[in-house]
Amino acid sequence: MNIFFDVDQTLVHIDQDSNVLRPGAHDAMQRIKAAGHNIYVWSATGEPHVRRIVAMHGLSEWVDGMFDKDPRVQPYPDFIIDDDWYLVEKYGGHCVSQYKGHAHDREFEAALQRLTDLGHL
Ligand SMILES: [Mg+2]
Repeated sequence: MNIFFDVDQTLVHIDQDSNVLRPGAHDAMQRIKAAGHNIYVWSATGEPHVRRIVAMHGLSEWVDGMFDKDPRVQPYPDFIIDDDWYLVEKYGGHCVSQYKGHAHDREFEAALQRLTDLGHL
């Protein structure tokens, strides 16, 4: 499957003082890749933003492509992980809460559990 991660409030929390990767991001991507899926990262803020965040947080080894959040994106998403419920309804996937920078956040564990329940991990 083509699994798409959103950036802002999904993978990272960014404010004027910080740029924090959501806990469990490395583990989530490692497990998804190990199960044979493709990982893409996209953002409505644009591809350069995605590239910057992926490089900054050491995610490059797992990421197969980076895109602007364009509905004509290729390959087409099979499963998205996003804090925007509207987009999760549209594409299918798992909706996470908006990441606010908390160290005890476990939303990616829940996303992995969803993928496991669906038989994808
Ligand atoms: Mg978002």
